[in-house]
Amino acid sequence: MTQLAIMGGKPVRTKLFPAYNTITKKEEKAALAVLRSGNLSQFIGDWCDDFFGGPKVREFETAWSEKFQARHTVSVNSATSGLIAAIGAAGLGPGDEVIVSPYTMSASASCAFAYGAVPVFADIQEDIFTLDPASIEEKITPRTKAIVVVHIFGHPADMDPILALARRHQLTVIEDCAQAPLATYKGRPVGTLGDMGIFSLNYHKHIHTGEGGMITTNDDALAERLRLIRNHGEVAIDSLPHLHDLTNLWGQNYRLTELQCAIGVEQLHRLDGYLSQRIDNCGYLAEKLAKLPGILPPVEYADCRHVYYVQPYKFQEELVDVPRDRFIQAVAAELPSAYLRETTGKLIGAGYVRPLYLQRIYQEKNVTRCSFNCPRYQGKTSYAKGLCPVTERMHEEELFTHEYMRPPMRKADLDDVAHAFEKVYEHRHTLLES
Ligand SMILES: *Cc1c(COP(=O)(O)O)cnc(C)c1O
Repeated sequence: MTQLAIMGGKPVRTKLFPAYNTITKKEEKAALAVLRSGNLSQFIGDWCDDFFGGPKVREFETAWSEKFQARHTVSVNSATSGLIAAIGAAGLGPGDEVIVSPYTMSASASCAFAYGAVPVFADIQEDIFTLDPASIEEKITPRTKAIVVVHIFGHPADMDPILALARRHQLTVIEDCAQAPLATYKGRPVGTLGDMGIFSLNYHKHIHTGEGGMITTNDDALAERLRLIRNHGEVAIDSLPHLHDLTNLWGQNYRLTELQCAIGVEQLHRLDGYLSQRIDNCGYLAEKLAKLPGILPPVEYADCRHVYYVQPYKFQEELVDVPRDRFIQAVAAELPSAYLRETTGKLIGAGYVRPLYLQRIYQEKNVTRCSFNCPRYQGKTSYAKGLCPVTERMHEEELFTHEYMRPPMRKADLDDVAHAFEKVYEHRHTLLES
């Protein structure tokens, strides 16, 4: 009789899945050429041409602008730096509030702390898991200055109503596109729908340069402020008498290197190919799992393109008859990890990250002296459990996510994943025995 692996049976597969690796000979060649030139970074924190970086930095930024239909691209050393720079460029400071989703990577919210602003959490939509415009509206106060909209998992947020709210209340819209390169909303790539878009080039993302980030904007003044914040702004602003508002223009060092940009140029050439592989793989698996009642593949709006950083599914316990966590643990037990991920576990999990406001820094409100504890802050934002009920329900009961679509996963690998689901589904009631 078949026994589930979690109950001591033989797993569907033990051979590790292939390593996630987007780096090829082309990146090797490009990186080697930079290494041999000896010019690993040409940035200078001084007002001259090289204030904007060397040839590879500029080539990568130009190519990115073209691909993402942006007037400007500013490269930075991570998306986290990019988010912080965007908060700085938007002119935020102590006393200001930033509305953000709680269901995202921590930096989408913590970027506000860098300039003493306060993250205020709005709830998400239960179909696409992005910020719900109605919830944003409820959270707007006279202190609100910006919204960080995250295109979580690779599906664009519903931008039109969010942009309408932002216009009405004069808010800066920062799009966190780290999980959504070339996702489209009504035919336009995310990143320039709002005021600034931030992309990640860390190792886990669709394409990468080890670490890195890109900021897109169509606004000349914001682009200039971002470039100043990236590279020790204070050394340059004496030469820029047209700048009247110097708020936040003391600089950081968020510079990306020539080596990373040379790799990035090559990665960008293959982004479309990697996206189609992810999209195909997700479609293939969704089709296979469609016959399991209560396992619901993600929604994709008709006028949007989902690029699947992860593939989010919804689990309906009332139909499946066993709790989500137990079911997903059982599927995970049927499948191996992947090469290069041996120690970090399985490629599937119940929920995503814990709703951010439940982290200790929000619960204890002691992470900075000037944000929520600032004498200039007149608000009283809450981080109590229950704050965003949809987010909590998705996290605790309904959502599960997997990364089995990552290149170079093939149909045969996905057949094993589907088989694991089918096996667990068929024998799910044995999970309730012990
Ligand atoms: C990965 C990620 C980031 C941070 O990216 P880094 O480049 O590692 O700083 C920010 N937001 C989201 C939604 C992410 O997935």
